[in-house]
This record gives sequence, C-alpha cells and structure tokens, in this order.
Amino acid sequence: MRLILLGLPGAGKGTQAKVLAERLGLLHISTGDMFRQASAEGTELGRRAQEFMSAGKLVPDEVTIGMLLERISKPDASLGFMLDGFPRTIPQAEALDQVLEARDEAIDAVLYIQVPEADLMARLTGRWTCAQCGAIYHEQTSPPKQAGVCDLDGTALTQREDDRPDTVRARLDTNREWTEALAGYYRRAGKLHEVDGTGDPTSITTRLLDELAGVQSAREKA
Ligand code: AMP
Ligand code: ZN
Repeated sequence: MRLILLGLPGAGKGTQAKVLAERLGLLHISTGDMFRQASAEGTELGRRAQEFMSAGKLVPDEVTIGMLLERISKPDASLGFMLDGFPRTIPQAEALDQVLEARDEAIDAVLYIQVPEADLMARLTGRWTCAQCGAIYHEQTSPPKQAGVCDLDGTALTQREDDRPDTVRARLDTNREWTEALAGYYRRAGKLHEVDGTGDPTSITTRLLDELAGVQSAREKA
C-alpha cells in the first residue's frame, strides 16, 4: 500500500506514521527527518534545506520533490510506503501522482487525523520549562506538583517562545492552510479518509487500521 498521513501539528501524525508503517510493513518516509539528517551530515541538500527550516519556511518544491521522488524509487520502497510530511503543496501532490501513474501505481489512501482546535492548542501550549535546571513539564501529561513551580528547585516555570499561544496559533493557521488544500485535492480524487484523532494513541492507531481495512477490502472487490 502507498499511503499519505495528514494532520495538523499536535495531531500525533509522526507517532502514528511510525506505528502504522511498522504494523503494515511499509517504509516510513518523513521528508522532515530526511532534511534534518541531510543537514546533520552537512550535505549540499542539507545546507539548502536548513536555511528554510530555520526560517520556519517550506523548503522549495524543486528541492523537496526531487528528494522524495528519488527516495520512493529505491528498491526498499517498492512494497509500499507511508508518507509523513509530504506532500505539503499541490505541486508536490501532482508531481507524486504523475510519477506513480507513469509506473502504473497510485496512492491508495490519504488518512487525515482530525483533532479539535482546542485540543491541539492545549497539547502544544502545555509545555513549561525550568530555566534553573532544565526540567520540562507538561500541563496535561507531566504537570509539576505545584502549578507553575519546578519540583526540583522551586523556580518559577517559563514557557519557550515556540510554545506560547500566539506562536502556536500562527503555526496552526499556516499549517491548516496547506493541509486543507491537500485534503481537498485528495477528497476530489476520492482518496481522503478522515479519522478521529482524539483519545489515547492506541485507540487512534486502531481507528486508522480499521479505516485501512475498509480501503483494502474495497480494493479487493474492485
Ligand atoms: P517536519 O518534521 O515535517 O515538521 O519538517 C520540518 C521542516 O522541514 C519543515 O518545517 C519544512 O521546513 C521542511 N519540510 C519537511 N517536509 C517538507 C515538504 N514536504 N515541503 C517543504 N518543506 C518541507
Ligand atoms: Zn528546576
């Protein structure tokens, strides 16, 4: 199977992509991971990508598309893959479709993990750190014993710029724009499957697998 996972930041897309790929025996391909690795290795591609990543921008299509198409052409991708973080633009989606079509292949399904805005905000703005000792807390998953104070040294906790509500809201807005555009693209192609992303990670995995089982049995009947 050739799958794409869509979801806003905080929806658990990366986690689910890893688990699903393993359960289904698919190659997990994350363009973000590929760029980070290239950057750590100091390659030309990595240097180009890092410029955009540091500025919080998308890496240009001509760089991203070439890298992804090369990756899915390797032998280990022939049995199927799970794309995580690609496509992020309509030209990326179109380039992918064209290459697959030329090989008589296609994307089987696009899973869109849906989480209400308020939940995403809570997940993404809940992180607090101690400037004194570096301890990290999360309001929901690992709160300090006393709100706003470090358990270890009693220092008042602070929030990183990235985790502040205004920053998070701006990030969600930008991401929503391209995610919705892609959802529309795949909806028109009859490939979009929206899955409830609330609750614990295990039940989300179960929902995703159930949805895929439906896709597979429909494909076998066809
Ligand atoms: P991610 O880990 O998916 O959030 O990706 C980290 C960064 O890599 C993004 O903020 C972008 O700068 C870049 N990136 C990853 N995937 C893409 C893509 N499909 N198109 C453009 N830029 C990307
Ligand atoms: Zn501390």
